[in-house]
Amino acid sequence: MNLDQFQQQLVAYASEIGIDKIGFASAEPFFNLKHRLIRQQQLNFQSGFEESDVEKRTRPELLMEEPVSIIAIAIAYPSKMGGAKQGVKGARRGIFSRSSWGQDYHSALRERLALLESFIAAHYPDARMKSMVDTGELSDRAVAERAGIGWSAKNTNIITPEFGSYVYLGEMITNIPFEYDEPMEDQCGDCRLCIDTCPTGAIVEGGQLNAQRCISFLTQTKGFLPDEFRSKIGNRIYGCDTCQTVCPKNKRKANRIHPEFDPDPEIAKPLLEPLLTISNREFKEKFGHVSGSWRGKKPIQRNAILALAHFKEQSAVPTLIELMNTDPRPVIRGTAAWAIGRIGTDEGRQALEHAQQQEKDEEVLAEIAKGLAFFSAETKG
Ligand code: SF4
Repeated sequence: MNLDQFQQQLVAYASEIGIDKIGFASAEPFFNLKHRLIRQQQLNFQSGFEESDVEKRTRPELLMEEPVSIIAIAIAYPSKMGGAKQGVKGARRGIFSRSSWGQDYHSALRERLALLESFIAAHYPDARMKSMVDTGELSDRAVAERAGIGWSAKNTNIITPEFGSYVYLGEMITNIPFEYDEPMEDQCGDCRLCIDTCPTGAIVEGGQLNAQRCISFLTQTKGFLPDEFRSKIGNRIYGCDTCQTVCPKNKRKANRIHPEFDPDPEIAKPLLEPLLTISNREFKEKFGHVSGSWRGKKPIQRNAILALAHFKEQSAVPTLIELMNTDPRPVIRGTAAWAIGRIGTDEGRQALEHAQQQEKDEEVLAEIAKGLAFFSAETKG
């Protein structure tokens, strides 16, 4: 069998194992990306979660000896949740972003890439391969763009004509000279809905993201959320989909293809109050399989507190007071204090005044002062 025939077989096999799109690109260095990444670093637009070595991110030859091609894969994930309950007064709900519904995509993509590797190795015993998903050195998006999976859109996602931007991406560097696919033309045109709708102005003109302002990134941090963003995260407890949900290219892309990514509404859109007191074991049992749990329970709890403040949910005040007074983590005590002030009950005010006398941590004391300031602002208003 010649290489052309094998490439066709590989494409057919990819479809059989649940890969929705596959493309082939050269393993030449990513010079354009390099310039963009350096600019991102200079502007302090990076999240800090990515590989910091720009050379490794842009030069496949540093990751595998004599690379020739890169195989890019995409798997679609659902954008619609069936049977989701609406949060109501007294039983408010938070939401995980769509990329964290169902099974953790890292394992789903790695399994498929491992199958592709075995398929290739069976035909080419000398093949060298290195696969990666999300946390690998290469930029999944730059590879997908080069391999014609979709175009690199203004919202900084890869948009595929078939599944919109609701796709997980992964790639494999190889030493096999596959025929390359053509990159896709940009189809955003004059549209700028994502730029104008982003709640924090994180999308900079020209398809650049200031991760430091991106709600998706901010929900994953572990410290105090900067004040500016506290009222902007709404009920998002992990990630943000705004730049995807407003995108016209995502209309009618329900993508109910892979049952393992179907969300359980009680997990993808959980009740907020039980999250405040969930034990480590319960958290692991309930949320351990979703990608949104990768930073542990603290950021999710902090965001749940902010979501309850967003709803001004008075029934949560006794639990928030308990957290402010007894939680060993300053971020949780302080965020609870801020939320108590934002919700604004008499019980909350008294608890804040009491906590101000007891608390020793400077950062938490600052949050208690902010919580009390909500009441003075109200009196003045
Ligand atoms: Fe492109 Fe418009 Fe979608 Fe933004 S909202 S990614 S500009 S098509």
